[in-house]
Amino acid sequence: MPYRRSGRSGLQLPAVSLGLWHNFGFVDRFDTAEQLVRHAFDRGITHFDLANNYGPPPGSAETVFGRILQRGLAAYRDEIIVSTKAGYVMGPGPYGDGGSRKYLVSSLDQSLKRMGLDYVDIFYHHRPDPNTPLEETMAALDYTVRSGRALYVGVSNYPAPLLREATAILRRLGTPCVIHQPRYNMFDRKIEPELLPALADEGVGCIAFSPLAQGMLTDKYLSGDIPADSRAARGHFLKAGDVTAEKLAVIRKLDAIARERGQKLAQMALSWVLRHPGMTSVLIGASRVGQIEDAVGALAKLDFSAEQLWAIESALAA
Ligand code: NDP
Repeated sequence: MPYRRSGRSGLQLPAVSLGLWHNFGFVDRFDTAEQLVRHAFDRGITHFDLANNYGPPPGSAETVFGRILQRGLAAYRDEIIVSTKAGYVMGPGPYGDGGSRKYLVSSLDQSLKRMGLDYVDIFYHHRPDPNTPLEETMAALDYTVRSGRALYVGVSNYPAPLLREATAILRRLGTPCVIHQPRYNMFDRKIEPELLPALADEGVGCIAFSPLAQGMLTDKYLSGDIPADSRAARGHFLKAGDVTAEKLAVIRKLDAIARERGQKLAQMALSWVLRHPGMTSVLIGASRVGQIEDAVGALAKLDFSAEQLWAIESALAA
């Protein structure tokens, strides 16, 4: 597993990280969840990404991950990077959502309890909150580090101008922003013109979530069918209706380019995200071990010829 430095920090992350948004709730099978985490760790995926609200129900992914740690992996705590976040709705009332110091600090305390940990490695503000002064949110992140609850801090879903403001505040406070977590994949490229250059200027790392567009940039839907055990069939975040005939036509073109490169489409999609020098890691989801293997396999071919990049651009523009 190659490890990449997160911006100008001392923290190195595996080029592939595993997210626990789906497949790790109380509604999912514990034995599969444990198998996925253990397999990932064995393959050098040392970074596990959580959030207070992952489940369902909210909080359960952290509880499940805590159990997995307690059943053996905790012995490797110093080789594992655990990330969690607060910022989306977690509970009722004014202290269960947003970016206030009250919400962030109490939420991190609850996350630590659920996971049975003394500290997390990275604590993120999950999304901007226009109703809380940015100074307060950043001071809360700084406090989580000073109080020993987190080692590093980051932000997620922040647009470029806000990211620049946030990094300036954090730098002044003495707790640098080490990472940003935006969505980035072949179908969603809005971070390219402004955010990626801002991260490079500020020396902040980048970890791309949903690099496979929740499974659309794989061979899963190629045939036009929606497999019964797929995310699109479950229909909560990715819907069967998202896999349109137009999208499928593009996906099939991309699949042909991937095969010419000797990769699966999922692998090419991950290599394509990792082509940016400032991209620290791709943050994948997985419902089975073979998907983790596919992701690790992508790292064998990260380079693209100009012709391949052009072919991808043409397929996406069609
Ligand atoms: P992906 O785009 O990697 O989608 C993962 C899903 O795609 C899998 O669960 C699986 O779905 C399918 N899949 C993966 N690999 C393959 C393969 N090789 N072949 C076929 N199908 C495959 O990422 P996610 O959308 O899951 O997001 C990843 C992580 O990013 C989350 O767990 C979370 O940690 C983070 N995230 C952060 C957000 C934020 O706001 N900060 C928002 C969203 C995610 P299936 O069930 O169909 O098999």
